[in-house]
Amino acid sequence: MRYAILTHGGAASPESFSDGCVAAAEAARATLDRGGDALAAALAATAALEDDPRFNAGTGSILRLDGTAIEMDASVMSSDGRFGAVTCIERVKNPVLVAARVMETPHLVLAGAGATAFARRVGFEDHDPSTLRARERHARAIADLEGLGDGRHAREAPGWRRGPPGHYFGFADLCAGADTVGAVVRDAQGRFAATASTGGTLFTLRGRVGDAPTMGAGVYAGPHGAVAATGIGEEIVRRFLAKSVYDWVAEGLAPARAASRGLAMFPDVVDVGICVIGRTGHVVTSNRSMARAALAG
Ligand code: ASP
Repeated sequence: MRYAILTHGGAASPESFSDGCVAAAEAARATLDRGGDALAAALAATAALEDDPRFNAGTGSILRLDGTAIEMDASVMSSDGRFGAVTCIERVKNPVLVAARVMETPHLVLAGAGATAFARRVGFEDHDPSTLRARERHARAIADLEGLGDGRHAREAPGWRRGPPGHYFGFADLCAGADTVGAVVRDAQGRFAATASTGGTLFTLRGRVGDAPTMGAGVYAGPHGAVAATGIGEEIVRRFLAKSVYDWVAEGLAPARAASRGLAMFPDVVDVGICVIGRTGHVVTSNRSMARAALAG
């Protein structure tokens, strides 16, 4: 059995950021070289992506609509059926590593203040993930919401304009996808792991839970493979994307065919990307530009 590592920088992320995905995949390979398993390698890759401030995960995560909160989601699943996730966690450097600690508890998902308190309790220090880039991006997005921006986020804004001016409580049909990260790994022993980590989508209320911490939506792993998805979380959850694609691989469909079938479930206006590894093949694909990397050997 040969190893394979796929990493991505989020549906609609610039392909010019792929160097960050390559560095993350190399961190995963170094972990395998040291004897780590698929789970350890996927965590190493995702932590590296969280530490790259260009991506919307960990340091560099985008702000929620209120312009102050940064709430992050992350999950990890391994082919032996273990799963751990955090949602709406604040002020930690590597949400995916906290998700891995949740995996060691009897729980599957920890949310909000409880997730942050758990992180502190198991040794994760206070960390401010905000960056100037993320604050500027939020300002541009709000300007578009007010009709005063440069139009870059105009496509996503209308659903949020339904409330009175200044009160963005209309729930968008679609929000903006924004540079989430993730990885899938198969190790030489045939074990699989999948991860996701995100600061959420651009126009997002506090407390929103997307696909990244939702088992079977943003990630899934089992004895036949591993899947990590990115894009508009609400749309991904509605289609149970990662588990659907996994099931097709388990039925014998090649990963590339299963991934195409997964993308085909979405209307063209929805950003979506997917990494799929099976026993004999792998693919990373998207319906938009997407920073990505693949290593196999
Ligand atoms: N799926 C992420 C979310 O909805 C965003 C993304 O992948 O860009 O939170």
